[in-house]
Amino acid sequence: MSASPPRSLHDLSFIAMESELQAAGVSAHHAKALWRALHFHGAQDLLDQDGFSPPLRRWLASAVGEGKAFFLDEPGVVEESHSSDLLTRKFLLRLRDGHSVETVLMGYDGRYTACVSTQVGCAMGCVFCATGQMGFVRHLRPGEIIAQVLHARRILLASHPQRRLRNLVLMGMGEPLHNYAAVMQALDAISDVRGINIGPSKICISTVGVVPGILRMAEEARPYRLAVSLHGSTEAERAALVPVSKQWNLAELLAACRTYGAITGKRIFVEWTLVAGRNDSLETAARLAELLSGMDVHINLIPLNPTSGFGGTPSTAGHAFQSVLRAAGFPCTLRQRRGIDVAAGCGQLQAAKRLAQ
Ligand code: SAH
Ligand code: SF4
Repeated sequence: MSASPPRSLHDLSFIAMESELQAAGVSAHHAKALWRALHFHGAQDLLDQDGFSPPLRRWLASAVGEGKAFFLDEPGVVEESHSSDLLTRKFLLRLRDGHSVETVLMGYDGRYTACVSTQVGCAMGCVFCATGQMGFVRHLRPGEIIAQVLHARRILLASHPQRRLRNLVLMGMGEPLHNYAAVMQALDAISDVRGINIGPSKICISTVGVVPGILRMAEEARPYRLAVSLHGSTEAERAALVPVSKQWNLAELLAACRTYGAITGKRIFVEWTLVAGRNDSLETAARLAELLSGMDVHINLIPLNPTSGFGGTPSTAGHAFQSVLRAAGFPCTLRQRRGIDVAAGCGQLQAAKRLAQ
């Protein structure tokens, strides 16, 4: 019989951690100390930690480490860049299998937000998106999502020990609702008050419009915020930018958003990447206002960040587009482009900043 492949300790829910300990003959109540070390202290070397009981310490020595049953998710930094105002720091983090994902730490007005990835690449293929242009490589495990938040928090505490990481947006690489189970398990851990403790209402999931996932979030009463990337006011306009619209069309998506709003009572963020001549006319803005009428939404307009695989250009009509939506009564913000900057180097990042403010 071959030994089962090693697993990540960060992949274990609290209950699963209790069961693992119990199965190894260690009392389940030691899970508290282990969880705290991993998720509150962000420990990278468990044997270095104080306060573990001898049985827990013995189990850790026998079960955790290279060649053993468990490992820790500790992605290494391949590359780091920051905006000229130093308020945004972007990390390319290397996973165990050699793939890399982007994680961002942003700080505005003393409020800090992490922006994390949920997949390597993305299957949704939005034509303007650098991640979509990569195609899908694989889903992230819960531990790999949690580890990005732990990294961002470690970086924050190193420079600002008094500050807390308060907000999280799932706007890095990948489509969170295409990796539903891993994302929800990660968010359960990230919002756990015994650990990282980011409030559920400070966590925002951004989706391209995976309709079953939106409805499932509502049915399961997931306590997180939802952002929907719309980008088009007619089926044709949207499908030209967002190919997945052929699977879940605009009408179905808007119906799902209305159902979500009705069940949860929560305001939805609508994300709109403005591409010159494609979705930035005043007629489009008026149609969008019509489509969203009666819904509790906040619209975020993001001028396109050009990517090598897409010939479109950023819209300059943002203010006029915004005025139409505001006149129709919608709260609507327009992200300003700030020139060549790490922040302007990534479309997702721009959108994420909007939600963090
Ligand atoms: N897959 C999810 C979350 C990651 S993308 C989603 O699509 O919502 C996060 C946001 O960045 C989305 O609103 C997306 O439309 C936007 N975005 C991606 N590439 C962009 C680009 N090149 N310029 C401007 N916004 C972009
Ligand atoms: Fe995927 Fe979001 Fe990029 Fe679309 S915009 S390809 S859904 S990451």
